[in-house]
Amino acid sequence: MSKRDYYEVLGVDRTAAPEDIKRAYRKLARQYHPDVNKDDPNAAERFKEIAEAYEVLSDPDKRARYDQFGHADPTQGMGGGAGFDSGFGDFGGFGDIFDMFFGGGGARRGPQRGADLEYELAIDFEEAAFGTEEEIEIPRTETCSTCHGDGAKPGTKVEPCSACGGTGEQQTVVNTPFGRMVNRKVCTACRGRGVHISHPCPDCHGQGRRRVRRQVKVRVPAGVDTGTRLRIPGAGESSPNGGQPGDLHILIRVRPHEQFEREGTNVYVNVPLTFVQAALGDEIEVPTLDGKVKLRIPEGTQTGTSFRLRGKGIVRLGSNQRGDQHVRVHVMTPTRLTERQKELLRELGRELGEDTTEQTRTFMERMKSAFLGDS
Ligand SMILES: [Zn+2]
Ligand SMILES: [Zn+2]
Repeated sequence: MSKRDYYEVLGVDRTAAPEDIKRAYRKLARQYHPDVNKDDPNAAERFKEIAEAYEVLSDPDKRARYDQFGHADPTQGMGGGAGFDSGFGDFGGFGDIFDMFFGGGGARRGPQRGADLEYELAIDFEEAAFGTEEEIEIPRTETCSTCHGDGAKPGTKVEPCSACGGTGEQQTVVNTPFGRMVNRKVCTACRGRGVHISHPCPDCHGQGRRRVRRQVKVRVPAGVDTGTRLRIPGAGESSPNGGQPGDLHILIRVRPHEQFEREGTNVYVNVPLTFVQAALGDEIEVPTLDGKVKLRIPEGTQTGTSFRLRGKGIVRLGSNQRGDQHVRVHVMTPTRLTERQKELLRELGRELGEDTTEQTRTFMERMKSAFLGDS
């Protein structure tokens, strides 16, 4: 499951003022407080999510970092264990409250999942229609291959942290008017990793993880459109402590096409006709995604008329069904005529003269009676 955006969690704008963030947080915290939602098992999760979002957005530094990096903040995680996924390690105030509610954060331990990554992939119209395979390069954090993630120089040992006894956290017990509270903090000596490394790995400086640029093959199925999201499980950031890696989310953007437009699975194309073709009818060639096809234009076709080519559209994602192509014709008025052509048209005009006048008169009369109501 990917992590929700903090602003979305609190239901505020990215530009929200600190007071608005505080107000939104207070309202939600009251609503999802585990004490008032004893029967709803999701409320506790939701409450944690709200608290976590507020913890970041209420702190100008953390908020700025979040705005820049999102959940993939390289200064988190790389530092080891201080990330929020580890279950409120660095929480100070909130950690205490959770200990009260949940009897000491049971979720604190255990491997933490790596962060999800997002990548925007721009592809061509035809690639979206028929599918493609792209190789992309993403910067991500991976387990260091030199030390296999333990952070120690090969051949040297990793020892338990003496400051925290290998637990990665330091506890203090405080008596308050509400009762005894256990305050847990990430161990400052080992930064929550629970180990002491006397000879750090030279390639990752003891972090156990490294930033690398990694080639990833992305298979884009036929039928995707701008806004389609593809998920590549396990291609996100590696876990800082032996857990599952995160996922890579590919956000598709389709580049516009010179001729074709698209709406869902249907393709639209505009085709010009000379007024002679429109008047007399013709067989023309129109471009489709599968190449040129013949289209019969009937006699007396008006400008703006649409013709449908069944099954010449785009595949519905995950199926074999294709939409249609709609061909809209535009009658072009001729320009730069020779004197002879003009003369022929004048003659045609005189020939059509009576008819046109007749048609216009009938039309005007119909309009008049429609307005006056005497049909
Ligand atoms: Zn290493
Ligand atoms: Zn320690």
